[in-house]
Amino acid sequence: MLNFKSKKLMVSLMAVSVVILLVLVVLMRDDTKAIDYRLYQTLLETKAIKKAVIDVDEVILLTSEGKYSIVKDGIDIKELLKYVPVESVKENPFLRDLVVIGLFFLMIFGLVLYGRKKREADLKKEQNDKYSAYANAGFTQAIIKPTTSKYKFTDIAGISEVKEELQEIVDFLKNSAKYKKMGITLPRGVLLVGPPGVGKTLIAKAVAGEAEVPFFYQSGASFVQIYVGMGAKRVRELFSHAKANAPSIIFIDEIDAVGKARGGMRNDERESTLNELLTQMDGFEDSSGVIVIGATNKMDVIDEALLRSGRFDRRVFIPMPDISDRVKILSIYLKGKPFEGDVKNIAKMSVGFSGAALATLVNEAAINALRENREIINEEDFVAVRQKVLLGKRKVLNFSDEEKKIQSLYQAAKALCAYWFEIDFDKITIINDRLKDLDMEIESKTQMFSKIKVYLAGIAITKIRYNETFSNSTEDLLRAREIAKNMSELYGMGRGLVPYPDDIATILDEAKDEVEKFLLGMSVPLENVSKQLFEDESISKVQIKEIVDEIF
Ligand code: ADP
Repeated sequence: MLNFKSKKLMVSLMAVSVVILLVLVVLMRDDTKAIDYRLYQTLLETKAIKKAVIDVDEVILLTSEGKYSIVKDGIDIKELLKYVPVESVKENPFLRDLVVIGLFFLMIFGLVLYGRKKREADLKKEQNDKYSAYANAGFTQAIIKPTTSKYKFTDIAGISEVKEELQEIVDFLKNSAKYKKMGITLPRGVLLVGPPGVGKTLIAKAVAGEAEVPFFYQSGASFVQIYVGMGAKRVRELFSHAKANAPSIIFIDEIDAVGKARGGMRNDERESTLNELLTQMDGFEDSSGVIVIGATNKMDVIDEALLRSGRFDRRVFIPMPDISDRVKILSIYLKGKPFEGDVKNIAKMSVGFSGAALATLVNEAAINALRENREIINEEDFVAVRQKVLLGKRKVLNFSDEEKKIQSLYQAAKALCAYWFEIDFDKITIINDRLKDLDMEIESKTQMFSKIKVYLAGIAITKIRYNETFSNSTEDLLRAREIAKNMSELYGMGRGLVPYPDDIATILDEAKDEVEKFLLGMSVPLENVSKQLFEDESISKVQIKEIVDEIF
């Protein structure tokens, strides 16, 4: 088999074949004119024929005018011989055909070979693309590369306690020898817990930046999206690279993707990845100088094993920014932008915004100013884009005014109830409520009952106002039933210590009666809260307090 070095060679070969073929065609071009016997006779008599060539079945006559041919059997060769010199054919037509056929096959062969090479090249390219896709997703060894973080704590606005807490880690990474000498054991893993967009990734990067150590980023989801067995391998590789670059930081974003509590639906890939992560963290020596920082917004689903001593035993909670932090964050993003107004007012109107949402808010406001052909961003711009940023494309935008009115009233009743019965929350919007789970081991019957009242408040108020029940109450009903069920079946808070079949219904009915009575006496604040929800689509606990205090 011919071994063609390159595609180029093949192309040249084909080009040469084509040229040869063309030359042959030109050379062999048959410009011979067939003549009949009469014309032949004339040529013969006028002695125009200079030479004759006998071919297989014809005779070629060469004259000064051109070439003529006549069927061999049609003439008397001997007679011809008398007039002109005659030769036998020089070219062997068989040979000529052979050359043509040979070249033809050579061309086909060239084309086939070219096609195959091209296919191979395409395949290789496809594999390369695949490889780089994996590489992008963080699957190949080649991309386990640390980055150097340029972020410092000063780039993060607010959350000063968080920074203080992490300062110790920075110090440890900077002076690991000092700690080692003193025999101080430091946490190997730090779990950053907080809602999305509050800056968990930013903080991890800032720790690396402050300590001036390499930063290995990995998203938890990418561990488990790959082929079977790859997740664990990936974890091993990641840790070995981090150790080789120690002191260093491994940051695992969305660690819950790997560290979700086991049980329920089995997922072997995730379990083997999690086990490898646990093994690697256990295998650390305290002095290895590698700190693993994990981030999650779902603390409740994290496998207990990951939280055990020697693993992510340090937990840092990062809350949504409060008003003063919001002022600081907004100031960072407004720096260098032409803004006229009071940042404080903007912070006031952005309750419930994360750092990331605030960054978007500033950007959107600037775009709004530009759209209106202004060179200076003002407070109005923020008001104009606030809802868009807050709600994104969520369902609320599709509410009709009437639906929005019902929903505002419904949520207002819940908000007021939650405030009154001391069920903690930051804010309640017309599509969402985030009642804080009680951070207690022991919850009383009254507290559980109060929660049920909050979840039934919406249903109660629409019954009072519209004498109607709406379909927006599904989720609240489910939650209320769940609590009532637990009260009866788990805690003996029903009619007796043994659950009675009608316990759940009784608890729910009682709660509903109580909440109805409560709401009947609250019509003025309820009106105000629901108005505020209708206009702003969101209300904070502080705002509810103001409304209630005004009246009582
Ligand atoms: P998380 O990891 O908690 O989801 P990120 O760290 O990805 O959040 O934050 C997203 C972006 O939001 C950051 O890149 C930054 O621009 C902005 N951001 C969030 N919190 C802050 C903060 N406290 N100070 C400054 N910027 C912040």
